[in-house]
Amino acid sequence: MYLKTLEIVGFKSFANKTKLDFEPGMTAIVGPNGCGKSNVSDAVRWVLGEQRARALRGAKMEDVIFNGTDSSKPLGMAEVSITLADCTEALGIEYDEVCITRRVFRSGESGYFLNRKACRLKDIQRLFMDTGVGTDSYSVLEQGKIDQILSARADDRRTVFEEAAGITKYKADKKEALRKLEHTEANLLRLDDVVREVK
Ligand code: ATP
Repeated sequence: MYLKTLEIVGFKSFANKTKLDFEPGMTAIVGPNGCGKSNVSDAVRWVLGEQRARALRGAKMEDVIFNGTDSSKPLGMAEVSITLADCTEALGIEYDEVCITRRVFRSGESGYFLNRKACRLKDIQRLFMDTGVGTDSYSVLEQGKIDQILSARADDRRTVFEEAAGITKYKADKKEALRKLEHTEANLLRLDDVVREVK
């Protein structure tokens, strides 16, 4: 699986619609300081569901929307789409390509799309679990991330290995099952109370 295209509009310094095509293998993005290189990797992490504005070097999520320059007005919406290719085997799906889109408006309204159809963030997270693709995963390593991993607590570092080993999905399933169990136990308690009252 590889990142085939990135389409950005209204995101950070990319006011105009910009499309980047990538080839399999290594890609280097070069340019002068402040030209927007890190904004490209921010866009990839954002479309994959990054929820922490600070991880995107902003104070609030609205900061990802193009906020204008001396010559252009701020925009009201940011949208990023990525297309991943060679997905069939890696994601266990029937399509070869998957397109993920995230959109946010200044009003706060936002949405995620999977192959142009509205979906939940959860669907995207689930699709990429254990593949190494994701916001907390190792496929996008922003500046300082390697240092952070090396100096992290053993427990935190373990999550990187768990993702690579493919057990994140099972841990998520276990958490969900335990949550349902807790809910069912609470329902049973309530039922007990009702039965006792009726007796
Ligand atoms: P360096 O080489 O110094 O790390 P870089 O090429 O990685 O720089 P970025 O950090 O990606 O550059 O981009 C910084 C630029 O993006 C700044 O000029 C900043 O003003 C601009 N920028 C960030 N957020 C927004 C926004 N919401 N609207 C408009 N411009 C923005």
